[in-house]
Amino acid sequence: EQEQAAYTSNHPRSRELFGQADNLFGRVPMTWMNMWTGGFPLYLDHATGNRVTDVDGHTYVDFALGDTGAMAGHSPKPTVAAVQRRAGELGGITTMLPTGDAQWVGAELERRFGMPLWSFTLSATDANRWAIRLARLATGKPKVLVFAYCYHGSVDEAFALPGPEGKAQSRPGNVAPPVDLDLTTRVATWNDIESVEAALAHGDVAVVLTEPALTNIGIVLPEDGFLERVRELATEHGALLLIDETHTFSAGWGGATRAWGLEPDIFVIGKSIGGGIPCGAYGITREVAAAVTRHTDAGEADIVDVGGVGGTLAGNALSTAAMRATLGEVLTEDAFAHMVELATAFTAGVQATFDELDVPWSVSQLGARAEYRFARPAPRTGEESAAAADDELDAYLHLALCNRGVLMTPFHNMALMCPETTRVDVDRHTEVFREVVGALFE
Ligand code: PLP
Repeated sequence: EQEQAAYTSNHPRSRELFGQADNLFGRVPMTWMNMWTGGFPLYLDHATGNRVTDVDGHTYVDFALGDTGAMAGHSPKPTVAAVQRRAGELGGITTMLPTGDAQWVGAELERRFGMPLWSFTLSATDANRWAIRLARLATGKPKVLVFAYCYHGSVDEAFALPGPEGKAQSRPGNVAPPVDLDLTTRVATWNDIESVEAALAHGDVAVVLTEPALTNIGIVLPEDGFLERVRELATEHGALLLIDETHTFSAGWGGATRAWGLEPDIFVIGKSIGGGIPCGAYGITREVAAAVTRHTDAGEADIVDVGGVGGTLAGNALSTAAMRATLGEVLTEDAFAHMVELATAFTAGVQATFDELDVPWSVSQLGARAEYRFARPAPRTGEESAAAADDELDAYLHLALCNRGVLMTPFHNMALMCPETTRVDVDRHTEVFREVVGALFE
Protein backbone atom coordinates (compact mmCIF):
# COMPACT_ATOMS: atom_id res chain seq x y z
CA GLU A 1 0.00 0.00 0.00
CA GLN A 2 2.88 2.31 0.82
CA GLU A 3 4.48 1.62 -2.56
CA GLN A 4 1.13 2.14 -4.26
CA ALA A 5 0.62 5.47 -2.54
CA ALA A 6 4.12 6.60 -3.52
CA TYR A 7 3.54 5.57 -7.13
CA THR A 8 0.20 7.35 -7.32
CA SER A 9 1.41 10.59 -5.79
CA ASN A 10 4.58 10.68 -7.89
CA HIS A 11 2.87 10.22 -11.25
CA PRO A 12 0.04 12.77 -11.47
CA ARG A 13 0.53 13.43 -15.17
CA SER A 14 0.52 9.72 -16.13
CA ARG A 15 -2.56 9.26 -14.02
CA GLU A 16 -4.30 12.16 -15.69
CA LEU A 17 -3.46 10.95 -19.20
CA PHE A 18 -4.71 7.48 -18.40
CA GLY A 19 -7.94 8.95 -17.05
CA GLN A 20 -8.42 10.84 -20.31
CA ALA A 21 -7.85 7.72 -22.39
CA ASP A 22 -11.24 6.23 -21.64
CA ASN A 23 -11.98 6.13 -25.38
CA LEU A 24 -9.31 3.40 -25.71
CA PHE A 25 -10.60 0.13 -24.38
CA GLY A 26 -7.18 -1.46 -23.91
CA ARG A 27 -5.55 1.91 -23.11
CA VAL A 28 -2.01 0.47 -23.40
CA PRO A 29 -0.60 -2.21 -25.74
CA MET A 30 -1.77 -5.04 -23.52
CA THR A 31 -4.61 -4.66 -21.07
CA TRP A 32 -3.00 -6.64 -18.27
CA MET A 33 -0.15 -4.14 -18.02
CA ASN A 34 -2.52 -1.69 -16.31
CA MET A 35 -2.63 -3.95 -13.29
CA TRP A 36 1.00 -3.87 -12.39
CA THR A 37 1.41 -0.28 -11.50
CA GLY A 38 -1.73 0.07 -9.49
CA GLY A 39 -4.25 0.71 -12.21
CA PHE A 40 -2.44 3.15 -14.45
CA PRO A 41 0.76 2.76 -16.44
CA LEU A 42 3.65 5.16 -16.80
CA TYR A 43 3.19 7.42 -19.80
CA LEU A 44 6.28 7.75 -21.93
CA ASP A 45 7.90 11.08 -22.62
CA HIS A 46 11.16 9.98 -24.20
CA ALA A 47 13.60 7.08 -24.27
CA THR A 48 17.14 6.47 -25.42
CA GLY A 49 19.55 3.56 -24.96
CA ASN A 50 18.43 1.83 -21.77
CA ARG A 51 16.79 4.90 -20.23
CA VAL A 52 13.11 5.74 -20.27
CA THR A 53 11.71 9.07 -19.04
CA ASP A 54 8.04 9.37 -18.14
CA VAL A 55 5.78 12.42 -18.50
CA ASP A 56 6.25 13.23 -14.81
CA GLY A 57 9.98 13.66 -15.39
CA HIS A 58 11.27 10.45 -13.77
CA THR A 59 14.03 8.60 -15.61
CA TYR A 60 14.30 4.82 -15.23
CA VAL A 61 16.99 2.24 -15.88
CA ASP A 62 14.99 0.09 -18.24
CA PHE A 63 15.39 -3.68 -17.96
CA ALA A 64 11.92 -4.26 -19.47
CA LEU A 65 13.03 -2.98 -22.88
CA GLY A 66 9.57 -3.26 -24.36
CA ASP A 67 9.32 -6.91 -23.33
CA THR A 68 12.19 -7.64 -25.77
CA GLY A 69 10.96 -5.28 -28.51
CA ALA A 70 13.80 -2.94 -27.56
CA MET A 71 16.56 -5.49 -26.91
CA ALA A 72 18.66 -3.37 -29.28
CA GLY A 73 18.09 -0.40 -26.93
CA HIS A 74 15.68 2.48 -27.43
CA SER A 75 16.05 4.16 -30.82
CA PRO A 76 19.48 2.75 -31.69
CA LYS A 77 21.33 5.29 -33.84
CA PRO A 78 21.98 3.10 -36.92
CA THR A 79 18.33 2.03 -36.99
CA VAL A 80 17.09 5.59 -36.62
CA ALA A 81 19.39 6.74 -39.44
CA ALA A 82 18.18 3.97 -41.76
CA VAL A 83 14.54 4.62 -40.93
CA GLN A 84 14.94 8.37 -41.41
CA ARG A 85 16.58 7.83 -44.79
CA ARG A 86 13.86 5.46 -45.97
CA ALA A 87 10.98 7.51 -44.63
CA GLY A 88 12.43 10.87 -45.71
CA GLU A 89 15.00 11.04 -48.47
CA LEU A 90 14.12 7.79 -50.26
CA GLY A 91 10.42 7.58 -49.46
CA GLY A 92 8.21 4.61 -50.20
CA ILE A 93 7.50 3.26 -46.74
CA THR A 94 4.88 0.93 -48.12
CA THR A 95 4.63 0.28 -51.83
CA MET A 96 4.26 -3.52 -51.95
CA LEU A 97 7.51 -3.47 -53.93
CA PRO A 98 10.52 -5.21 -52.40
CA THR A 99 13.83 -3.47 -51.75
CA GLY A 100 17.33 -4.97 -51.68
CA ASP A 101 17.27 -4.66 -47.89
CA ALA A 102 14.95 -7.67 -47.76
CA GLN A 103 17.53 -9.95 -49.41
CA TRP A 104 20.25 -8.63 -47.15
CA VAL A 105 18.15 -9.37 -44.07
CA GLY A 106 17.23 -12.84 -45.39
CA ALA A 107 20.90 -13.66 -45.91
CA GLU A 108 21.79 -12.38 -42.44
CA LEU A 109 19.00 -14.40 -40.82
CA GLU A 110 20.29 -17.49 -42.63
CA ARG A 111 23.83 -16.79 -41.38
CA ARG A 112 22.56 -16.60 -37.83
CA PHE A 113 19.75 -19.14 -37.64
CA GLY A 114 20.38 -21.48 -40.57
CA MET A 115 17.06 -21.42 -42.45
CA PRO A 116 17.69 -20.69 -46.15
CA LEU A 117 14.30 -19.17 -47.04
CA TRP A 118 12.61 -16.25 -45.31
CA SER A 119 9.44 -14.24 -45.37
CA PHE A 120 8.54 -11.10 -43.42
CA THR A 121 5.63 -10.06 -41.24
CA LEU A 122 4.80 -7.20 -38.92
CA SER A 123 4.88 -9.12 -35.67
CA ALA A 124 5.87 -12.43 -34.17
CA THR A 125 2.18 -13.26 -33.78
CA ASP A 126 1.71 -12.96 -37.54
CA ALA A 127 4.81 -15.00 -38.19
CA ASN A 128 3.53 -17.82 -35.98
CA ARG A 129 0.09 -17.77 -37.55
CA TRP A 130 1.45 -17.91 -41.08
CA ALA A 131 4.04 -20.52 -40.16
CA ILE A 132 1.26 -22.71 -38.76
CA ARG A 133 -0.65 -22.40 -42.03
CA LEU A 134 2.42 -23.44 -43.98
CA ALA A 135 2.91 -26.42 -41.69
CA ARG A 136 -0.70 -27.53 -42.23
CA LEU A 137 -0.25 -27.20 -45.95
CA ALA A 138 3.06 -29.07 -45.92
CA THR A 139 1.83 -31.97 -43.81
CA GLY A 140 -1.88 -32.14 -44.55
CA LYS A 141 -2.49 -32.44 -40.81
CA PRO A 142 -4.65 -30.14 -38.68
CA LYS A 143 -3.17 -29.73 -35.21
CA VAL A 144 -0.53 -27.69 -33.44
CA LEU A 145 1.25 -29.23 -30.48
CA VAL A 146 2.16 -26.65 -27.84
CA PHE A 147 3.43 -26.80 -24.27
CA ALA A 148 1.30 -25.86 -21.29
CA TYR A 149 1.84 -22.19 -20.35
CA CYS A 150 3.62 -21.34 -23.56
CA TYR A 151 2.99 -17.97 -25.17
CA HIS A 152 3.38 -17.28 -28.87
CA GLY A 153 1.38 -14.07 -29.29
CA SER A 154 -2.33 -13.96 -29.97
CA VAL A 155 -2.36 -17.31 -31.71
CA ASP A 156 -5.64 -19.07 -30.95
CA GLU A 157 -4.15 -22.55 -31.09
CA ALA A 158 -1.61 -21.80 -28.38
CA PHE A 159 -3.87 -20.68 -25.48
CA ALA A 160 -4.47 -24.22 -24.38
CA LEU A 161 -3.93 -26.53 -21.47
CA PRO A 162 -4.07 -30.31 -21.30
CA GLY A 163 -7.65 -31.50 -20.73
CA PRO A 164 -9.29 -34.86 -20.04
CA GLU A 165 -8.52 -37.81 -22.34
CA GLY A 166 -5.51 -36.13 -23.96
CA LYS A 167 -7.69 -33.35 -25.38
CA ALA A 168 -6.75 -29.70 -25.39
CA GLN A 169 -8.87 -27.27 -23.46
CA SER A 170 -8.96 -23.51 -23.49
CA ARG A 171 -6.69 -21.78 -21.01
CA PRO A 172 -8.57 -19.74 -18.38
CA GLY A 173 -8.77 -16.13 -19.47
CA ASN A 174 -8.53 -17.04 -23.14
CA VAL A 175 -10.63 -14.60 -25.10
CA ALA A 176 -13.38 -16.32 -27.06
CA PRO A 177 -11.64 -19.29 -28.64
CA PRO A 178 -13.25 -19.58 -32.09
CA VAL A 179 -13.74 -23.33 -32.07
CA ASP A 180 -13.35 -26.32 -29.86
CA LEU A 181 -9.57 -26.23 -29.26
CA ASP A 182 -9.56 -30.00 -29.47
CA LEU A 183 -9.90 -29.56 -33.24
CA THR A 184 -6.74 -27.46 -33.53
CA THR A 185 -4.45 -28.20 -30.65
CA ARG A 186 -2.66 -30.81 -28.60
CA VAL A 187 -0.84 -29.88 -25.42
CA ALA A 188 2.18 -31.47 -23.82
CA THR A 189 4.14 -30.70 -20.66
CA TRP A 190 7.55 -29.08 -20.92
CA ASN A 191 10.45 -31.42 -20.08
CA ASP A 192 8.06 -34.39 -20.11
CA ILE A 193 8.99 -36.31 -23.23
CA GLU A 194 6.35 -38.96 -22.62
CA SER A 195 3.62 -36.34 -22.88
CA VAL A 196 5.09 -35.23 -26.22
CA GLU A 197 5.19 -38.78 -27.50
CA ALA A 198 1.61 -39.45 -26.40
CA ALA A 199 0.35 -36.30 -28.12
CA LEU A 200 2.20 -37.05 -31.36
CA ALA A 201 1.06 -40.67 -31.37
CA HIS A 202 -2.42 -39.54 -32.46
CA GLY A 203 -0.87 -38.80 -35.86
CA ASP A 204 -2.76 -35.54 -36.38
CA VAL A 205 -0.10 -32.97 -35.45
CA ALA A 206 1.18 -30.75 -38.27
CA VAL A 207 3.67 -28.84 -36.17
CA VAL A 208 5.25 -28.74 -32.74
CA LEU A 209 5.37 -25.05 -31.81
CA THR A 210 7.77 -24.17 -29.02
CA GLU A 211 10.29 -21.73 -27.67
CA PRO A 212 13.69 -23.33 -26.94
CA ALA A 213 13.00 -22.44 -23.30
CA LEU A 214 9.65 -21.27 -21.94
CA THR A 215 10.09 -17.56 -21.24
CA ASN A 216 6.59 -16.32 -20.60
CA ILE A 217 5.98 -18.09 -17.29
CA GLY A 218 9.41 -17.30 -15.89
CA ILE A 219 12.26 -18.97 -17.74
CA VAL A 220 11.87 -22.74 -17.74
CA LEU A 221 14.98 -24.20 -19.32
CA PRO A 222 14.98 -27.48 -21.24
CA GLU A 223 16.63 -30.43 -19.55
CA ASP A 224 19.50 -32.15 -21.32
CA GLY A 225 18.36 -33.95 -24.44
CA PHE A 226 14.73 -32.76 -24.24
CA LEU A 227 14.72 -30.60 -27.37
CA GLU A 228 16.74 -33.15 -29.32
CA ARG A 229 14.19 -35.83 -28.45
CA VAL A 230 11.31 -33.53 -29.42
CA ARG A 231 13.04 -33.06 -32.78
CA GLU A 232 13.34 -36.81 -33.30
CA LEU A 233 9.78 -37.52 -32.27
CA ALA A 234 8.38 -34.82 -34.54
CA THR A 235 10.17 -36.38 -37.50
CA GLU A 236 9.07 -39.89 -36.55
CA HIS A 237 5.45 -38.78 -36.44
CA GLY A 238 5.46 -36.68 -39.60
CA ALA A 239 5.20 -33.33 -37.80
CA LEU A 240 7.32 -30.25 -38.38
CA LEU A 241 9.23 -28.46 -35.63
CA LEU A 242 8.65 -24.72 -35.33
CA ILE A 243 11.06 -22.90 -33.04
CA ASP A 244 9.89 -19.46 -31.92
CA GLU A 245 12.92 -17.39 -30.89
CA THR A 246 11.13 -14.10 -30.35
CA HIS A 247 12.37 -13.99 -26.75
CA THR A 248 15.16 -16.55 -26.72
CA PHE A 249 17.14 -14.59 -29.29
CA SER A 250 18.63 -13.28 -26.04
CA ALA A 251 20.60 -16.55 -25.91
CA GLY A 252 23.15 -15.12 -28.34
CA TRP A 253 23.94 -13.79 -31.81
CA GLY A 254 22.27 -16.82 -33.42
CA GLY A 255 19.71 -17.41 -30.69
CA ALA A 256 19.35 -20.69 -28.84
CA THR A 257 19.06 -22.43 -32.20
CA ARG A 258 22.68 -21.71 -32.97
CA ALA A 259 23.95 -21.92 -29.39
CA TRP A 260 22.35 -25.31 -28.79
CA GLY A 261 22.52 -26.72 -32.33
CA LEU A 262 18.74 -27.03 -32.80
CA GLU A 263 17.35 -28.13 -36.15
CA PRO A 264 13.90 -26.66 -36.70
CA ASP A 265 11.90 -26.95 -39.92
CA ILE A 266 10.38 -23.53 -39.40
CA PHE A 267 11.82 -20.65 -37.43
CA VAL A 268 10.02 -17.57 -36.11
CA ILE A 269 11.41 -14.34 -34.79
CA GLY A 270 9.99 -10.90 -34.11
CA LYS A 271 10.17 -7.95 -31.73
CA SER A 272 13.83 -6.98 -31.37
CA ILE A 273 15.23 -7.53 -34.86
CA GLY A 274 13.79 -4.26 -36.16
CA GLY A 275 15.23 -2.14 -33.35
CA GLY A 276 11.68 -1.25 -32.29
CA ILE A 277 10.10 -0.83 -35.72
CA PRO A 278 7.25 -3.34 -36.23
CA CYS A 279 8.58 -6.42 -37.96
CA GLY A 280 8.78 -10.18 -37.83
CA ALA A 281 10.19 -12.98 -39.92
CA TYR A 282 9.81 -16.69 -40.42
CA GLY A 283 12.24 -19.01 -42.12
CA ILE A 284 11.74 -22.46 -43.62
CA THR A 285 13.95 -25.27 -44.86
CA ARG A 286 14.10 -26.23 -48.53
CA GLU A 287 12.18 -29.40 -47.68
CA VAL A 288 9.28 -27.42 -46.27
CA ALA A 289 9.46 -25.09 -49.26
CA ALA A 290 9.28 -28.04 -51.64
CA ALA A 291 6.20 -29.33 -49.86
CA VAL A 292 4.32 -26.06 -50.19
CA THR A 293 5.56 -24.75 -53.52
CA ARG A 294 3.14 -24.46 -56.37
CA HIS A 295 5.07 -24.35 -59.60
CA THR A 296 3.97 -21.59 -61.90
CA ASP A 297 5.00 -20.74 -65.44
CA ALA A 298 5.25 -17.12 -64.56
CA GLY A 299 8.78 -16.73 -63.30
CA GLU A 300 12.32 -17.92 -63.71
CA ALA A 301 12.57 -19.46 -60.27
CA ASP A 302 10.25 -21.72 -58.34
CA ILE A 303 8.51 -19.63 -55.79
CA VAL A 304 6.72 -20.55 -52.66
CA ASP A 305 3.38 -19.34 -53.91
CA VAL A 306 0.79 -19.90 -51.27
CA GLY A 307 -2.32 -17.89 -50.66
CA GLY A 308 -3.34 -17.01 -47.13
CA VAL A 309 0.10 -16.01 -45.93
CA GLY A 310 1.59 -12.56 -46.29
CA GLY A 311 0.12 -9.11 -45.84
CA THR A 312 0.00 -5.68 -47.39
CA LEU A 313 2.50 -4.12 -45.03
CA ALA A 314 4.64 -7.25 -44.50
CA GLY A 315 8.30 -6.67 -45.29
CA ASN A 316 7.69 -3.02 -46.08
CA ALA A 317 10.68 -0.86 -46.90
CA LEU A 318 10.72 0.80 -43.48
CA SER A 319 10.83 -2.41 -41.50
CA THR A 320 13.37 -4.10 -43.77
CA ALA A 321 15.62 -1.02 -43.55
CA ALA A 322 15.25 -1.15 -39.76
CA MET A 323 16.07 -4.87 -39.62
CA ARG A 324 19.12 -4.42 -41.82
CA ALA A 325 20.55 -1.66 -39.66
CA THR A 326 19.66 -3.36 -36.36
CA LEU A 327 21.09 -6.77 -37.28
CA GLY A 328 24.06 -5.34 -39.17
CA GLU A 329 25.16 -2.67 -36.73
CA VAL A 330 23.47 -3.02 -33.34
CA LEU A 331 22.82 -6.62 -32.29
CA THR A 332 26.33 -7.72 -33.24
CA GLU A 333 28.41 -10.51 -31.71
CA ASP A 334 30.26 -7.94 -29.58
CA ALA A 335 26.99 -6.50 -28.36
CA PHE A 336 25.79 -9.96 -27.31
CA ALA A 337 29.05 -10.65 -25.46
CA HIS A 338 28.52 -7.44 -23.47
CA MET A 339 24.83 -8.16 -22.81
CA VAL A 340 25.43 -11.74 -21.68
CA GLU A 341 28.21 -10.65 -19.33
CA LEU A 342 25.87 -8.13 -17.71
CA ALA A 343 23.00 -10.61 -17.45
CA THR A 344 25.38 -12.97 -15.67
CA ALA A 345 26.22 -10.21 -13.18
CA PHE A 346 22.51 -9.38 -12.83
CA THR A 347 21.67 -13.02 -12.11
CA ALA A 348 24.49 -13.28 -9.57
CA GLY A 349 23.17 -10.14 -7.83
CA VAL A 350 19.68 -11.58 -7.53
CA GLN A 351 21.03 -14.93 -6.35
CA ALA A 352 23.17 -13.19 -3.71
CA THR A 353 20.03 -11.60 -2.26
CA PHE A 354 18.22 -14.95 -2.22
CA ASP A 355 21.20 -16.62 -0.52
CA GLU A 356 21.79 -13.90 2.03
CA LEU A 357 18.15 -13.66 3.06
CA ASP A 358 17.49 -17.37 2.55
CA VAL A 359 14.59 -16.57 0.24
CA PRO A 360 13.02 -19.66 -1.38
CA TRP A 361 13.01 -18.23 -4.90
CA SER A 362 15.16 -18.96 -7.93
CA VAL A 363 16.59 -17.02 -10.83
CA SER A 364 17.35 -18.33 -14.31
CA GLN A 365 19.40 -16.77 -17.07
CA LEU A 366 19.17 -17.20 -20.80
CA GLY A 367 21.96 -15.22 -22.40
CA ALA A 368 21.07 -11.54 -22.09
CA ARG A 369 17.87 -12.27 -20.14
CA ALA A 370 17.20 -13.17 -16.52
CA GLU A 371 13.94 -14.02 -14.79
CA TYR A 372 13.10 -15.01 -11.24
CA ARG A 373 10.41 -17.24 -9.92
CA PHE A 374 8.94 -17.69 -6.45
CA ALA A 375 10.06 -21.30 -6.18
CA ARG A 376 13.22 -23.21 -5.41
CA PRO A 377 14.50 -25.26 -7.11
CA ALA A 378 13.73 -23.61 -10.46
CA PRO A 379 10.49 -25.00 -11.93
CA ARG A 380 10.86 -27.80 -14.51
CA THR A 381 7.52 -27.38 -16.23
CA GLY A 382 5.10 -24.62 -17.18
CA GLU A 383 2.62 -26.08 -14.70
CA GLU A 384 5.13 -25.86 -11.83
CA SER A 385 6.09 -22.36 -12.78
CA ALA A 386 2.46 -21.27 -13.01
CA ALA A 387 1.79 -22.79 -9.59
CA ALA A 388 4.65 -20.73 -8.15
CA ALA A 389 3.30 -17.48 -9.59
CA ASP A 390 2.11 -14.92 -7.10
CA ASP A 391 0.42 -11.87 -8.58
CA GLU A 392 0.57 -9.90 -5.37
CA LEU A 393 4.29 -10.45 -4.95
CA ASP A 394 4.86 -9.68 -8.61
CA ALA A 395 2.97 -6.43 -8.28
CA TYR A 396 4.83 -5.41 -5.12
CA LEU A 397 8.26 -6.07 -6.61
CA HIS A 398 7.41 -4.37 -9.88
CA LEU A 399 6.04 -1.30 -8.16
CA ALA A 400 8.78 -1.09 -5.53
CA LEU A 401 11.51 -1.31 -8.17
CA CYS A 402 9.68 1.21 -10.35
CA ASN A 403 9.45 3.62 -7.41
CA ARG A 404 13.24 3.32 -7.11
CA GLY A 405 13.92 4.02 -10.76
CA VAL A 406 14.24 0.46 -12.11
CA LEU A 407 11.84 -0.97 -14.70
CA MET A 408 11.30 -4.70 -15.13
CA THR A 409 8.79 -6.53 -17.27
CA PRO A 410 5.95 -7.35 -14.90
CA PHE A 411 4.16 -10.67 -14.84
CA HIS A 412 7.12 -12.87 -15.60
CA ASN A 413 9.72 -10.81 -13.76
CA MET A 414 11.98 -10.49 -16.74
CA ALA A 415 15.08 -8.37 -17.04
CA LEU A 416 16.88 -7.90 -20.30
CA MET A 417 20.18 -6.22 -21.14
CA CYS A 418 20.72 -4.10 -24.24
CA PRO A 419 23.97 -2.88 -25.82
CA GLU A 420 23.80 0.33 -23.74
CA THR A 421 23.19 -1.31 -20.36
CA THR A 422 26.18 -0.80 -18.06
CA ARG A 423 27.60 -2.51 -15.00
CA VAL A 424 26.55 0.51 -12.96
CA ASP A 425 22.93 -0.10 -14.03
CA VAL A 426 23.14 -3.76 -13.03
CA ASP A 427 24.65 -2.83 -9.66
CA ARG A 428 21.84 -0.35 -9.14
CA HIS A 429 19.33 -3.15 -9.67
CA THR A 430 21.21 -5.43 -7.26
CA GLU A 431 21.07 -2.73 -4.61
CA VAL A 432 17.37 -1.90 -4.92
CA PHE A 433 16.37 -5.55 -5.33
CA ARG A 434 18.14 -6.33 -2.05
CA GLU A 435 16.28 -3.45 -0.42
CA VAL A 436 12.79 -4.38 -1.64
CA VAL A 437 13.15 -8.13 -1.01
CA GLY A 438 14.75 -7.37 2.34
CA ALA A 439 11.65 -5.38 3.30
CA LEU A 440 9.65 -8.60 2.91
CA PHE A 441 11.96 -11.06 4.64
CA GLU A 442 13.87 -9.22 7.35
N1 PLP B 1 6.37 -15.42 -29.48
C1 PLP B 1 6.85 -15.30 -28.24
C2 PLP B 1 7.75 -16.35 -27.70
C3 PLP B 1 6.51 -14.21 -27.45
O1 PLP B 1 6.97 -14.12 -26.20
C4 PLP B 1 5.65 -13.22 -27.99
C5 PLP B 1 5.28 -12.03 -27.18
O2 PLP B 1 5.57 -11.90 -26.04
C6 PLP B 1 5.19 -13.38 -29.29
C7 PLP B 1 5.55 -14.49 -30.01
C8 PLP B 1 4.27 -12.37 -29.90
O3 PLP B 1 4.91 -11.18 -30.18
P1 PLP B 1 4.05 -9.95 -30.69
O4 PLP B 1 3.15 -9.57 -29.57
O5 PLP B 1 5.08 -8.91 -30.94
O6 PLP B 1 3.33 -10.38 -31.90
